[in-house]
Amino acid sequence: MTDPVVTRIAEKISAGERLSGADALALYESHDLIEIGKLADRVNRAKNGDVVTFASNQHINPTNVCTLRKTCTFCGYARLPKEEGAYRYTLEQTLAEAANAADGLTREFHIVGGLDMKAGLAYYQEMFRALKSNFPHVHIKALTAVEIAHIARIEKMSWRDVLIALREAGLDTMPGGGAETFSAAVREQIAGKKLAGADYIGVHRAAHELGIRTNCTMLYGHVETRADRVEHLMMLRDLQDETGGFLAYIPLAYHPDGNVLGKELGREGTATTGVDDLKMLAVGRLFLDNFQHIKSHWIMVSTALSQLSLHFGVNDLEGTVVREKIYHAVGAHTPQGMTLEGLLKLIRGAGKTPAERDSFYNVLRQFEARAPETVGA
Ligand code: SF4
Repeated sequence: MTDPVVTRIAEKISAGERLSGADALALYESHDLIEIGKLADRVNRAKNGDVVTFASNQHINPTNVCTLRKTCTFCGYARLPKEEGAYRYTLEQTLAEAANAADGLTREFHIVGGLDMKAGLAYYQEMFRALKSNFPHVHIKALTAVEIAHIARIEKMSWRDVLIALREAGLDTMPGGGAETFSAAVREQIAGKKLAGADYIGVHRAAHELGIRTNCTMLYGHVETRADRVEHLMMLRDLQDETGGFLAYIPLAYHPDGNVLGKELGREGTATTGVDDLKMLAVGRLFLDNFQHIKSHWIMVSTALSQLSLHFGVNDLEGTVVREKIYHAVGAHTPQGMTLEGLLKLIRGAGKTPAERDSFYNVLRQFEARAPETVGA
């Protein structure tokens, strides 16, 4: 029998009413995953039809040196400057890693890294200019709000002035990482010195006011409560009401391996559950009624679950990536990249129509949906 809570919320959505925080909490508490998924699917189909998009993108992580190495206890990627495994790319190394884009197929660089005292404004300006000069067809989506605030602090500039300078050098949009969970109590426990949630919102607001579109995320499955998740979603929805600058919401599953927090919690080897992963996406779709795009990050939740999520309100999949490092440092067992054929297979296998998009979600090429009689291809 359908959970009456979900029935009530479905009626609210049908009547065009916005969900309250209490509704979101009730959905997180409900065990009626299938009905929640059906509802999220209905809402998604009304917005995006059967089309599922992806980008031909490449992740580049130019430095893992980070001043917060000791305080972001969920992170397994960062290193102190002299620690084994620490690296900071030279410009030549960045260009060498980006060389894959010479094939003309890559359309977006996704560039994020640590809060490195030696990677200030000039470091990224030089990088972006060189990337634009060598790969003019490739969009630069770079630097989380946390990295922007770090550059602002070490250069003694405002967030806005940093954004203006980076845009002039080639920055096109910003990714949504660094949000973690906004709750101050959660941040205190897992990322004590990280940019506060309100300041994450502040940097994104500054970007939106300059016309720089951004994504947003939530790291879940660590120590946060359901109420923390709702508070987080509320802050994202409020900013979207104000600016309309978010392109997509991407829930990110916490991985407990290779980081201090996983050991502290005794959770090594136990990643988030499939039910929670799907619910995070579906509730995001239902609560964030002012977002067009909800994206599943297959690197974090597996390709199989990302495919399933296409029936739980998701209309966008992480793209080709090429060589992912950050989540593989904390135990992700997924591939570090995906071929175009692999993405098409996932999307078609879910009965959806694949489409390659640009970084602003304009469809560049739509592929044929799979013939109904075709199995396993
Ligand atoms: S999560 Fe980001 S800011 Fe925190 S230690 Fe890791 S790289 Fe640094």
